[in-house]
Amino acid sequence: MALLNILQYPDERLHTVARPVAKIDGRIQTLVKDMFETMYESRGIGLAATQVDVHESVVVMDLTEDKSEPRVFINPVIIEKDGETTYEEGCLSVPGIYDTVTRAERVKVEALDEKGEKFTLEADGLLAICIQHELDHLMGKVFVEHLSQLKQNRIKAKLKKRQKHNL
Ligand SMILES: [Zn+2]
Repeated sequence: MALLNILQYPDERLHTVARPVAKIDGRIQTLVKDMFETMYESRGIGLAATQVDVHESVVVMDLTEDKSEPRVFINPVIIEKDGETTYEEGCLSVPGIYDTVTRAERVKVEALDEKGEKFTLEADGLLAICIQHELDHLMGKVFVEHLSQLKQNRIKAKLKKRQKHNL
């Protein structure tokens, strides 16, 4: 296992659209393991392959404190969504920035697990929010891009300054 480097906003590579995984083989299983290790190490609850500069449709997630519910989504697609909810989101690629995003309240997602088995999951609450946040990454979208242009510019300036000073 290995810790992967997480791209930091506004890195352009975060805007890459992921391609579907063609074959779930050892390479993908290693990627999944490394993504979990990286996510747990960074104390995140979700991580998309895009964030570690692998542009394939893979997401890992675990909303628990004790790492007891690891979830893998390969080639995920949201097939239904309804309602509306807001939540103060953060992101491992946008460290220290939290802001309120409006998303669907409930989603139904179809995906493959790390063994290639297809599953459907109906989610609400934080799980639904996290799924939408991570699937956005696969489409090349970072959560701050749901905010106003003014806020995005401020966040960009703040992070660029911080990266320059290596803080
Ligand atoms: Zn994120």
